[in-house]
Amino acid sequence: MTPFLYPKSRHIRRETPRKHQRYQTFKKTLRTEFENQCVYCRLPDTLKGTETFGVDHYKPRKLFFELALDYENLFYACNCCNSRKGAFWPTQDELARGLFIPNPCDHVMFEHLKYVEAEVKTKSPAGGFCEDLLDLNDQDSVDYRKFVLGLLTASIKERDDFRKTLELIDARISVIETDTAQAQEHAQQRLVVEAELKNCLGRIRRLLGKPDDGSD
Ligand SMILES: [Zn+2]
Repeated sequence: MTPFLYPKSRHIRRETPRKHQRYQTFKKTLRTEFENQCVYCRLPDTLKGTETFGVDHYKPRKLFFELALDYENLFYACNCCNSRKGAFWPTQDELARGLFIPNPCDHVMFEHLKYVEAEVKTKSPAGGFCEDLLDLNDQDSVDYRKFVLGLLTASIKERDDFRKTLELIDARISVIETDTAQAQEHAQQRLVVEAELKNCLGRIRRLLGKPDDGSD
């Protein structure tokens, strides 16, 4: 399991927000639309918080002012990718050479970029261009992704251990008489393990970029 995966098909927008006067107001809808992850580097916002994310204008406001509030031009991006992208727009020459930044609605991201564990590998000239411009493999980001993936592996092991412990407790409960001190002790123990399992599942969900609703 990893949150660091590029989509293998184009995203078709599902949300239909009403018109807003400020582009920032679209942020919440964009968060839902793009499932809490930066469209460029795939970082989930459940790790560092939504305040580290913002609204990206695919076609920059400075050059395409008329699209500043056009929902189709807006994407959900981490502040790092958003500021590195800035007001970039490819020149005619760059476009002719296939050098542009792919987005998940107009392009199949996986045809341009893919993750191998914590690192982004490029699969096309556009992917290489994007990786370079947005500095997708800067050392801090790679180190942070390694940390997330390590924590995810440890949490999954912990989840499996908690589940095994619960099975063992249930097996013991099934062979002892109810309403005894021993049965009560096991029931108590079960509650503790269950609570720990719930915490662990919440952590896994956050590491995968899913809101913590407590379900598996
Ligand atoms: Zn990003």
